[in-house]
Amino acid sequence: MNIPFSPPYIDESVEAEVLDALRSGWITTGPKVKALEQEVCKYTGAESCLVVNSATSALMLVLHWYGVKKGDEVIIPAYTYCATALAVMHVGATPVMVDVEDDFNISVEKIKAAITPKTKVIIPVDFAGWSCNYAAIHNLINEATIKNNFVATSEQQKKLNRILILSDAAHSFGATYNYKKLGTAADITVFSFHAVKNLTTAEGGAICFHLPLPFDNNEIYSTFRLWSLNGQTKDAFSKSKAGGWKYDIVYPGFKMNMPDVLAAIGLAQIRKYDSFLLVERKRVFEFYNNHFSKQDWAILPPYQKEGCTSSFHLYPLRIKNISEEQRDKIIEQIALAGVAVNVHFQPLPLLHIFKERNFDITLYPKAYNNYKSEISLPVYPQLNNNQCNYIVTTIIDAVNAIISNE
Ligand SMILES: *Cc1c(COP(=O)(O)O)cnc(C)c1O
Repeated sequence: MNIPFSPPYIDESVEAEVLDALRSGWITTGPKVKALEQEVCKYTGAESCLVVNSATSALMLVLHWYGVKKGDEVIIPAYTYCATALAVMHVGATPVMVDVEDDFNISVEKIKAAITPKTKVIIPVDFAGWSCNYAAIHNLINEATIKNNFVATSEQQKKLNRILILSDAAHSFGATYNYKKLGTAADITVFSFHAVKNLTTAEGGAICFHLPLPFDNNEIYSTFRLWSLNGQTKDAFSKSKAGGWKYDIVYPGFKMNMPDVLAAIGLAQIRKYDSFLLVERKRVFEFYNNHFSKQDWAILPPYQKEGCTSSFHLYPLRIKNISEEQRDKIIEQIALAGVAVNVHFQPLPLLHIFKERNFDITLYPKAYNNYKSEISLPVYPQLNNNQCNYIVTTIIDAVNAIISNE
């Protein structure tokens, strides 16, 4: 049997929506993007939402807007995809990595120890779709000593007058935190609609705004929209109308907009996200839980507690007391059986560009421990019980073969 890791969910409704964009005479940013933004707002409860060409762009745009620049520090977990750190580096600032907890998410205690007067932003990552402890992070940054040490050096920083919480929710669209869908747990929440994510537009991202007063989240949306389209006062759609040719460039903006032909994919998917896509992911996730809970070597991923549920983006299975080499051998064996698995993530300090910048993996023992024993299993709606069974049997056989080899 051949089982891919994460094929996109493309059905007739997706095809119809994309065809509709193609045949409409308008394929780049226009009505479908607007409609997707409105759907994301409705779904997440965020005050406003801008859709852009990737989550990486989204993070960069937010950091730029908050005036984060050279000399500033942004706290991120060591256990994430490189984009979280690269976005920080692209605005010239320094990523400060901290270790994670057993649930893979950033340690609030470690955040506290890493805060300096240069800290402008914290970017928690909801690993695998499991929400970070946002209440604890909010409490921390509002502690008197931390708040008083905040040095505001831009207009927006003066207005907020504290560290900004920017959620990297690339994995967690549809996850619940404190009885609410994610999108309003941080000041600003960024989702990814990349091809392998739960909800996709092939490439894309969304920025959900939930800033406190005196910020006006709708006004901020307009600013971001302008900045994502070269700072041009009229988008191509308005300019395409008769007599609408004249525009101005009022800000040296970026080119980060999403085309309608891609928004169409997400639009079709979001309409059946809760009623179908999320339900089916949960089915696969619980299938794995049922079987692996019977194995004494298995550490099951966190996925629900009072007020919180995962978005079931990944199934990060961990195997007790194994070495990195054993894990790699297990994956080799699984691959021979035709099952595609992955490892999420190689902690950033293990990667070339971060080693080069003197990040040292020994300072992130939890991240390394999670990584060395982790295997991400396929999770997607198209997997049937037969395939799930095959995956489970394959994993159990591979683990037992390698463990008993010791
Ligand atoms: C996928 C991912 C991103 C980047 O998303 P893009 O839309 O591809 O830019 C950022 N952070 C995490 C944790 C991711 O998994």
